[in-house]
Amino acid sequence: MTDCLFCAIAEGKIPSKKVYEDDLVYAFRDINPQAKTHVLVIPKTHIGSCAEINEENSAIVARIFEVIPKIAEAEGLKNGFRVISNSGPDACQSVHHLHFHILGGEQMSDKMA
Ligand code: AMP
Ligand code: ZN
Repeated sequence: MTDCLFCAIAEGKIPSKKVYEDDLVYAFRDINPQAKTHVLVIPKTHIGSCAEINEENSAIVARIFEVIPKIAEAEGLKNGFRVISNSGPDACQSVHHLHFHILGGEQMSDKMA
């Protein structure tokens, strides 16, 4: 998709701190970390949000969730981690390309909203 920040990051057109990459998935450090470890995991192809996951594109979401524990292990998140995906205005989604936040490396709040 044109004018999508995370498409541009996945294509290497905008720099990012890469954590992981394969044929379908790209992961990089959040520019404004909300925890000691804060990684974003995205599909290389454009999906707008969780609201756009369907039978056609769900295989890439399955791949993302295969990759997440590998990233967590590589990042040393032995004591746990949180995975969040904001979808739409009520959830304050600010980048409209599907992404999963991996947060960890410290004790987090028991509040999620
Ligand atoms: P959300 O608010 O759930 O849509 O999350 C978007 C995330 O993207 C935020 O945590 C931002 O800090 C992060 N972000 C925005 N621009 C960049 C960028 N250029 N590189 C890395 N992370 C970014
Ligand atoms: Zn995109």
